[in-house]
Amino acid sequence: MGPHESLSRRAFARAAALGALPLPVLTERALAQLSYPGDAPPDAVLLNANENPLGPCAAALEAMGRALRTGGRYQFGETLRLARTAAQAEDVPAECVQSFAGSSDPLHRVVLAFCGPGRAFVTADPGYEAGERAAAFVQAPIHRAPLTKDFAHDVEAMLRAAGREAGVFYVCNPNNPTGTLTPKAAIERLVREKPPGSVVLVDEAYIHFCGAPSCMDLVRDGRDVFLLRTFSKIYGMAGLRAGLAFARPDLLGRIRPYGTGFLPVTGMAGAIASLEAKGVVEERREYVRRIREDLMSWLRANRVEFVPSVSNKIMIRTAKPGREVSAAMAARKVIIGRSWPSWPNHVRVTLGTVEEMEKFKAAFLQVISS
Ligand code: PLP
Repeated sequence: MGPHESLSRRAFARAAALGALPLPVLTERALAQLSYPGDAPPDAVLLNANENPLGPCAAALEAMGRALRTGGRYQFGETLRLARTAAQAEDVPAECVQSFAGSSDPLHRVVLAFCGPGRAFVTADPGYEAGERAAAFVQAPIHRAPLTKDFAHDVEAMLRAAGREAGVFYVCNPNNPTGTLTPKAAIERLVREKPPGSVVLVDEAYIHFCGAPSCMDLVRDGRDVFLLRTFSKIYGMAGLRAGLAFARPDLLGRIRPYGTGFLPVTGMAGAIASLEAKGVVEERREYVRRIREDLMSWLRANRVEFVPSVSNKIMIRTAKPGREVSAAMAARKVIIGRSWPSWPNHVRVTLGTVEEMEKFKAAFLQVISS
């Protein structure tokens, strides 16, 4: 046993004795790595972490290049400029915006601030797992409500499951992993009917891919809502780290004490340039839509079941356990996403470029016919 191992074991034992395990700050990157540990070969196709193979837009690349030279400073002014730019783009007051190095950070903070023993985390199943891991850390009860038959959040079941003890209702729209939408009216109902003192956390990491109505008006109207956006998805900046939380100033105040949430200058410069660039969202939405439509037609033609998606990923049904399919695909250098415990016979496949999807199709046909 090496010194690090013994140290971490001791720390673990102490934390466990205190009833607190180390907080796993989970990002899509970490979750994707848990299901595919290690390093992918350099020529592998990566369809496992809902990343954007296009990377940052041209304006963001240029702005980040310039920002590198100013990297010797913390650039506090850029933080304010990012908040102002985002506030203007979304038509909310600047004090309702807080920037972070990705949206995983505020997602965890909201759970830490509003959940705990007797204050439950309520989520959809299958849903994005990061929030419920944070809830487990603060020993909050966790309620998972299966999606409806249309793959929307079952708001009624979420309200019923929580009773009066809710801390956070988490709604990812469109959902990760299914890429399906929850009608805005259902989210509005959740906000209206949730118990006092709880909040609704609307995660719009993927909203740009479908152009569905945002819940930003609920923030504008001062409701008990946190809304998250990230630059990791449509803007292609996952490795550069930038994200935003929108909420009433008093709610943002509740999540501020958990750390500085400070962004790298490249993240700030790239985020501002992305928000200011014209047509990026629309172009990329169309690019992804074509690839998605093509894949869905191909799956239908090959009689493979899937959940129709409006996002940059598709849940594909597999005849054998998804885990085995993922392993067989990885052996063919196509790394696909994970399966969820409640849906063990589905795999999540992120949409890549046209060329990458051709490689996916070739490997997938081999795997399902073997
Ligand atoms: N929320 C959802 C639903 C996600 O899928 C992700 C990443 O995949 C995030 C939030 C946070 O991403 P990041 O921390 O890269 O902004």
